[in-house]
Amino acid sequence: MSKSYVVIVETKEGKLRQVSLEALHAANLLREDGDHLSAVLLGHQLDDAAAELARYIEGQLLVIDHAELHTYQPELAFEAVIQALNALPDEPKLILLGHTAIGRDLAPQLAARLACGQVSDVTAIHKDGNRITFTRPLYAGKAFEQTILTDGTGVVTLRPNNLAPAAPAAAAGTIVPLEFTPPSTLQTILKDVVRKVSGKVDLTEAKIVVSGGRGVKSAVGFKVLEELADCLGGAVGASRGACDAGYCDYALQIGQTGKVVTPEIYIACGISGAIQHLAGMSQSRIIIAINKDPEAPIFKVADYGIVGDLFEVVPLLTEQFKEVFA
Ligand code: FAD
Repeated sequence: MSKSYVVIVETKEGKLRQVSLEALHAANLLREDGDHLSAVLLGHQLDDAAAELARYIEGQLLVIDHAELHTYQPELAFEAVIQALNALPDEPKLILLGHTAIGRDLAPQLAARLACGQVSDVTAIHKDGNRITFTRPLYAGKAFEQTILTDGTGVVTLRPNNLAPAAPAAAAGTIVPLEFTPPSTLQTILKDVVRKVSGKVDLTEAKIVVSGGRGVKSAVGFKVLEELADCLGGAVGASRGACDAGYCDYALQIGQTGKVVTPEIYIACGISGAIQHLAGMSQSRIIIAINKDPEAPIFKVADYGIVGDLFEVVPLLTEQFKEVFA
């Protein structure tokens, strides 16, 4: 019997999020010949995103384009996804989403409504015949759990930057616009979103993160890190120590109570390496630590360590990279 794999795709400022392409790639790896693959795209003014997404999916692309979905509203988005799932020819077997703020919000609601299992924050997927094993980190990345969905049905969120993104499909997918009827009664209504203006690279999806800790000593000190991040096309992150000290915004905080990042390169500057910080970055592919204390715990997880004053080392790195990229 054919199965249906569904990817709930997210956009940011009208552009497809990388993690959604990673989810599409995962769905493609898992499905077998004859299994249906569908993507669900919600939002408003989605023509460009839908056309772009159609390039990556051989199946059908269900698009709900409605003015009330212009900003994510949990109840509305959930109802829209349910309406999209109801439009599928068969029941979904596996629903894949990014482990983002939206994915984390939607996934448990969907699992509850569909009465199926849920696996969160998956960093690797292994398929052996019909058996799919999901790997997810535990205890701040100190251990890994391997989970299966006993009947193979469920909702899965994927940690960004852990799987390869989908490559363009051989044939473009079919765009299926769906009508959306917002529910007449809502228990919550979003009134306003106050955005912090930032044209910078999304921290959770950045390939390179330059992160600063209390060792950066001031908000002005973070400029040095911004220059390096800009030069590398990366994003700036921070430890909670730096956020608590008021050197930067909490939106940059990485760790147990902040964001989880898994970039190709993580450059920790003036960060001691507390377990709560490691929880948010220890899965990074390459960790470079710059710290003037050779005994700093961050060096235990670092692939490359530079013992020195970040205010000397970071500008030198920026200068060198600028020459390389000039
Ligand atoms: P510090 O520990 O003070 O380290 C500063 C480092 O900078 C030192 O190693 C020092 O040698 C180095 N340094 C100083 N000057 C220079 C210089 N000029 N050049 C180079 N190096 C220099 N922390 C997080 O980061 N994220 C979290 O999500 C988080 N969640 C938490 C949750 C709970 C429940 C608790 C209890 C704590 C949490 N913490 C979190 C806090 C965490 O325990 C640490 O206190 C925090 O990570 C320390 O930040 P830091 O490394 O910037 O500061």
